[in-house]
Amino acid sequence: MNTNSPHRSGSVAVIGRPNVGKSTLTNALVGAKISITSNRPQTTRHRLLGIATFPAGQIVLVDTPGLHKQQGKFSASAMSRVMNRAARGALEGVDAGLLVIEAGRWDEEDTLAYNVLSDAGIPVVLVINKVDRLRDKSALLPFLAQVSDGREFAAIHPVSALKKNGLESLTKDVLALLPEAPPMFGEDEITDRSERFLAGELIREQLMRQLGAELPYATTTEIERFTEDGEMLRIGAVIWVERESQKAIVIGKGGTRLKEIGSKARMQMEHLFGRKVFLETWVRVREGWSDDETALKAFGYE
Ligand code: GDP
Ligand code: MG
Repeated sequence: MNTNSPHRSGSVAVIGRPNVGKSTLTNALVGAKISITSNRPQTTRHRLLGIATFPAGQIVLVDTPGLHKQQGKFSASAMSRVMNRAARGALEGVDAGLLVIEAGRWDEEDTLAYNVLSDAGIPVVLVINKVDRLRDKSALLPFLAQVSDGREFAAIHPVSALKKNGLESLTKDVLALLPEAPPMFGEDEITDRSERFLAGELIREQLMRQLGAELPYATTTEIERFTEDGEMLRIGAVIWVERESQKAIVIGKGGTRLKEIGSKARMQMEHLFGRKVFLETWVRVREGWSDDETALKAFGYE
């Protein structure tokens, strides 16, 4: 450790519209897959902490559901309200905000996210993600000029969270915005969430990735059993859907879909937890759960 510069530590909210790569960025900085990702908007439903520890300091990232306009069928639901609430609530007490956008794209929802951060009165670091997808790199400069016009950023970083490019200099600038303080978490801690919670999320990740169209939004997971059996974890999970017809789709012909979901999720769990996992899954129906505040609470949505 460099003894000349002080140790810094603090928390940073990761904000942006759905699907820009907030969770991918959080995972890349933490160095482990603690936050689920998919190419579908609204994959992240819960606020969660990612703890990134470096010799020079510790950054506690608050990953959030994407801020989105309250419009359309999904956005009018109770789930949508809960998610926007979680994103805004993430700003309480943070030292800075990371505004994540996609290279080459700025729209109304990006403006909404910027305004939420700037109203909070914290320094905003602009993270221009997915630069690996830019075919014409020279387009970055005019884009940068466009998005920074009339807006105030403490720093601007083009990165690829997926390819882990540009993260070192981003880390350095973020640390510089944090107060001089000892680390808040132990060196080997990577999140505030329990393995039990993460197990449910890893199943939900497969639901987001493997189910077509609207179905992912009608599903959630609940861990009914989480026990240690010697070196092994025994996990029993319920996948909740809203209708019988959806249950049939999740299970698939001869149970193939459910088997695939379970086996992919189990492999991810074994990787993250570093032990063998025995996973059992069931699919059950609870009508209208995603628009029912009581059901949402029961399923762990704050
Ligand atoms: P979030 O909704 O903002 O948390 O977005 P996710 O982290 O779930 O990512 C959304 C999608 O974008 C996923 O399919 C990611 O693999 C993809 N993605 C994230 N970062 C990058 C990146 O740097 N480059 C590319 N090409 N894709 C990315
Ligand atoms: Mg996310």
